[in-house]
Amino acid sequence: MTRNIFFTAAIIFLQIGAVAQADFFYPGAGNFNASIPTPEKFLGYAIGSHHTRHDKLVEYFKELDRLSDRVSLQVIGETFEHRPQVVATFTSPSNHQRLEEIRKAHLAGQVNGNTENIPLVIHLGYNVHGNEPSSSEAAMLTAYYLTASASEEAAKWMNEMVILMDPVINPDGRDRHSHWANMHKASPLVDDPIDREHTEIWPGGRFNHYWFDLNRDWFLGTFPETRNRIKFFHYWRPYVQTDHHEMGSNSTFYFDPGEDASNNPIVPDYLYKTVYPKYAEYFSKATDKLGSMYFTKEAYDKLYPGYGSSYINFYGGAGFLFEQASSRGHVQETTTIPLTFAFTIRNQFTASLTTVRASLAEKNMLLKMRKEFYRMAKEQQAKSAIKGFLFGDAADETRTRAFVEMLLLHEIEVYEVSSNTIADGKRFEAGKSFYVPAMQDNYIMVRSVFEKQITYIDSSFYDASAWSLVHAYNLPYAEMKSSFTAGKRITSLTARQVIDAVKSNYAYVMSNTDYNIHKAIYSLQKSGVIVQSAFRPFTANINGSDKKFGYGSVVISVQQQLISPDSLYKAIVTAGRESNISIYGIQTGYSAGGIDLGSGYVQTLKKPEVLLIIGTGVAASEAGYIWHLLDQRLQMPVTKIDILNMNRANLNRYNTMIMVSGNYSLIDTITTNKIRTWVQAGNTLITIKGGTEWAIRNRFTREKLLPADTAKGPPVRKDFDMAVHIEGAKALGGSIFRVDLDTTHPIGFGFTNRKVSVYKNGLTFLQPSSNAYSTVSQYTNDPLIGGYIHPTTLKKVKNSAAILCGNEGSGRVILFSDDPNFRGTWYGTNKLFLNAIFYGSNISVPQVVAEQE
Ligand SMILES: [Zn+2]
Repeated sequence: MTRNIFFTAAIIFLQIGAVAQADFFYPGAGNFNASIPTPEKFLGYAIGSHHTRHDKLVEYFKELDRLSDRVSLQVIGETFEHRPQVVATFTSPSNHQRLEEIRKAHLAGQVNGNTENIPLVIHLGYNVHGNEPSSSEAAMLTAYYLTASASEEAAKWMNEMVILMDPVINPDGRDRHSHWANMHKASPLVDDPIDREHTEIWPGGRFNHYWFDLNRDWFLGTFPETRNRIKFFHYWRPYVQTDHHEMGSNSTFYFDPGEDASNNPIVPDYLYKTVYPKYAEYFSKATDKLGSMYFTKEAYDKLYPGYGSSYINFYGGAGFLFEQASSRGHVQETTTIPLTFAFTIRNQFTASLTTVRASLAEKNMLLKMRKEFYRMAKEQQAKSAIKGFLFGDAADETRTRAFVEMLLLHEIEVYEVSSNTIADGKRFEAGKSFYVPAMQDNYIMVRSVFEKQITYIDSSFYDASAWSLVHAYNLPYAEMKSSFTAGKRITSLTARQVIDAVKSNYAYVMSNTDYNIHKAIYSLQKSGVIVQSAFRPFTANINGSDKKFGYGSVVISVQQQLISPDSLYKAIVTAGRESNISIYGIQTGYSAGGIDLGSGYVQTLKKPEVLLIIGTGVAASEAGYIWHLLDQRLQMPVTKIDILNMNRANLNRYNTMIMVSGNYSLIDTITTNKIRTWVQAGNTLITIKGGTEWAIRNRFTREKLLPADTAKGPPVRKDFDMAVHIEGAKALGGSIFRVDLDTTHPIGFGFTNRKVSVYKNGLTFLQPSSNAYSTVSQYTNDPLIGGYIHPTTLKKVKNSAAILCGNEGSGRVILFSDDPNFRGTWYGTNKLFLNAIFYGSNISVPQVVAEQE
């Protein structure tokens, strides 16, 4: 292939070394402290010629810390793959000596005080998506510049600023991609986009260890690496936070402001109207100078609080998004000239330095932004009819506490409820319910967590249009319209102390309403305990008083075990402690109400042996949510079988198979029939979204998808340019809906309310079953709780089936129209999915007998 002159020049530059590197990345920057090594000198290769491994990057930052008293490095945690999360602080030696004093004065000045005479605190963040690698290389250059520059300007920055830097937000994903790019790099370089260097294998480096998108996790805090980072954020509450990304190779460069219509309407608009346009003046000038093309204002939303470039906006700061066209590899052909890795790094580096420069120059604007933020938040409080939110599910402390942990992570004020309260027709138990007042500094975040609907200006969404976490946790809650006297404020949850079961010679029982019930069942099963479940409720006498056990409660006979009563007791105590669920020893099988413990309705549960199909074409995140759920929350192994190995897998080892969305065309007909035979032999196939469509199309079930709209009017003509808005509005980016759940069905076991909040972000619509007992969960006639949905889409959601469960031979297929495990946050609907795994083997759907005329 003919390479043009620019490309040749770029390659030559990559080989020249230090002088050319300085000319390319920071021309005219003046002198640098010679005792500080450039990244190139330290690493032994020119920046842009290789992808830097995370450990090497960390070593470089350690070297800067060792050599310079402008830099200090700290470790804030580690990833699942044991890569350290490092954060660097850049400021003058004298500021370093009084850093804690500066931090305290900075925090104290936020709402009412004054931070004019305190160094300005900003934060630079890089590489949340591992396969968008230019930014971490730019982080090293930025770190070098801040450490080594002998310029007056840099000295001023050091004196008047505290610059925090998180050089790699997603170390596991970054290394996955960097290794890929390096191992396939050729010499000479190959810019053909289809070359293996440029086409990463599944699941790619975007995600973290469990294939989650960390750039959605700032709001959800599912992962330790995010929680460490959020804690660090609140420790400092910077004024500015950057987030650097990459986009398609044929694009250019993006910086804020984003699309006007996608600004979050509850965030005070001084940020959008004044701060972003002002910074854009600096970014455009700097980028013009490089000759780099760019765009602003037409894309990327700041609605959702879970992006690295938006989270800070909910705390009175300014989050900046940068998107650079990706070379995805070392050089890649585009519709213009080949795009080199070095070129992409230079734009990110320039954006970093420009952020520093603009922030100090516009310090007064930033201070005003924060004051405006708190002032406007107070105005919103004053106007709101809601004085606070009461919430809690006494039947599920694990789920309630997980929600409280999340609130505390976001530094939301939470109070205990000290006396039993009825509100909005719901009962909130003392000690098991909590209160969040509206009157608090972080009110904007409180609204984001609790409110189900905000008013949008636009109807096409880059991502979710609703994220009310109280619904994700499916927690009973009440909006309090008058003042409420709560108990004491809590800043951390005390450890739970579950009383060990009293040893019994007859049986043990446990209720199944707690989130951790499946963890407890699995813990028992892996210890060799035979676990049974009561498919009808019963009432047992516990310590002298009657206690009701609902559908699906757990029964463990002492005699009907292969292990000794002592071993059984040990397993019972362990399971109770691990899951924080009370297990009760009882002395009689004769129930005070409902079925007796020897009833035919008490069924033996099979230990789940789960297979999850993964690999090329499969939706990595949907699969990752399941892997993470079973692995981290249940400590239960799940075998992940690559789609290419399905033809040689011995399916008889498993009793449960899970298929998430994906293109399953790599599963051939012989393998499809092998799966069918396996289901019919008595096993359970669980499908989600696209997996459900695959199962229906391949006739694994008689259930049906809703038919496509067939009503045809006369042809309609619209303007070409309207398509983005008109067609974009029909997508379902993600909204919250209400379903009616059959709580007597094993998949609905443990739910105390038939009305459940669910998340829908796809267009899989199921017809209610022709079998009266197969529609486990159905969208209501008025299903929308919050978020945007196009009217024609809403019509399809209404009364459609959300979960279907039908027999196939001796087995069964359980079809989910939506993802019950979305982003590891839908604690409410996780239980439906886990019930499908744990009770699936026991489900035999009753047949409808034709009625006589
Ligand atoms: Zn990205």
